[in-house]
Amino acid sequence: MFNLILFGPPGSGKGTQSEKLIVKYHLKHLSTGDLLRYEIHNQTPLGLEAKNFMDKGQLVPDEVVIGMISSALEAHPEVKGFLFDGFPRTSAQAEALDKLLELKKTSIAVMLALEVSEEELVKRLLKRGETSGRSDDNNDTVIRARIVEYHKKTAPVADHYKKSDKVIMVKGEGSVDEIFASLCKEIDQRLS
Ligand code: ADP
Repeated sequence: MFNLILFGPPGSGKGTQSEKLIVKYHLKHLSTGDLLRYEIHNQTPLGLEAKNFMDKGQLVPDEVVIGMISSALEAHPEVKGFLFDGFPRTSAQAEALDKLLELKKTSIAVMLALEVSEEELVKRLLKRGETSGRSDDNNDTVIRARIVEYHKKTAPVADHYKKSDKVIMVKGEGSVDEIFASLCKEIDQRLS
């Protein structure tokens, strides 16, 4: 299996690049943001709980997202690999993911981390908010809160994978195709 984490702050382009990467490399896309929005859409108890946090720009509790990822891994036993997008977002989630993958006799091959300036992030998120229908994208205060959460709780996840030398920084500014090419170059090197 080839398991990859696409990492980066909100608005860094993880969703856009994931869509292209899963097609090229035949990976199963696991986006906790998408999974949570699906639960909200279906008004499940999990979705209703998660919504309270997401509307404020806060992270959803670890046990909720870890449970969701654990079920998703079990639901797709035959895949070539997983692309994790928006997960893990805390050190506890990273530790849980490593254990879950170990049980499946696999591990994270690489973490590709998109680097984008804060000014560009806010600009992109506000622009996305005009069309995405995501209430967390059209409010400046919520966007800033998400970026604060990222620095406080999510940035340490990169340190976790740096210990095993798995983190590659990739420039997340430029055209979608340019960034995609940079990501593919790193993946191809590791697949060969
Ligand atoms: P973005 O990366 O643009 O913020 P996401 O769709 O990944 O968008 O996440 C939207 C919201 O969903 C986050 O602000 C957070 O509240 C919640 N969320 C998504 N993934 C996680 C996670 N792994 N842990 C905790 N909360 C999460």
